[in-house]
Amino acid sequence: YRVDFIPLEKIPVWSPSGDSSCKPQYQVNEELNKKISLFSGDITKLEIDSIANAANKTLLGGGGVDGAIHRGAGPLLKKECATLNGCETGEVKITGAYGLPAKYVIHTVGPIVHDSVGEREEQALRNCYYNCLHTATKNHLRTVAFPCISTGVYGYPPEQAVEVALRTVREYLEQNHEKLDRVIFCVFLKSDKELYETMLSAYFPRG
Ligand code: ADP
Repeated sequence: YRVDFIPLEKIPVWSPSGDSSCKPQYQVNEELNKKISLFSGDITKLEIDSIANAANKTLLGGGGVDGAIHRGAGPLLKKECATLNGCETGEVKITGAYGLPAKYVIHTVGPIVHDSVGEREEQALRNCYYNCLHTATKNHLRTVAFPCISTGVYGYPPEQAVEVALRTVREYLEQNHEKLDRVIFCVFLKSDKELYETMLSAYFPRG
């Protein structure tokens, strides 16, 4: 038992904060709204079924969220990752979570954006979210948390990345809502928290 581990019960379902300046893009669906959380903090503390890792192609660890996940999990994670033959952009590989409170880590490799986002990068980011959700449900994992994939050193503009993340999750949940209990957007920066707060009212509007 660790006091700083955060179980699902302590992660509130998303609810809009006053000003919703963003136009709804989807119909109101309260069933889906109940399955969304916006969590501000460290993804490695979440005591849930699975957390996504914004990894690199080697899967052998790196900086940012990847570094935090490997530090929290301990050396056995790297040992398992070393047997997986790396991972392609947009693809995923699932491992145990070892010293972390989550049950599994779903590693995915986001696209690197050099100058501007093209169709290829957008599709790759969409694949990251879709394949993580698909791998979770295939493994009967009912809760997934996502960091803001590719928006750190990989350079994907956050305001474009959040739209891909929310659209992909919304469309996946419309097709597969019975397979998941909660999808948690885990934000680490105040600017990302504000972006998600605004955009969630467009993709998961309230009645
Ligand atoms: P990428 O290489 O895919 O860009 P980064 O790790 O550099 O990945 O950044 C992805 C996002 O993860 C950034 O928004 C960063 O602020 C965030 N981040 C860093 N550490 C953590 C953490 N412990 N928990 C959740 N998010 C984190």
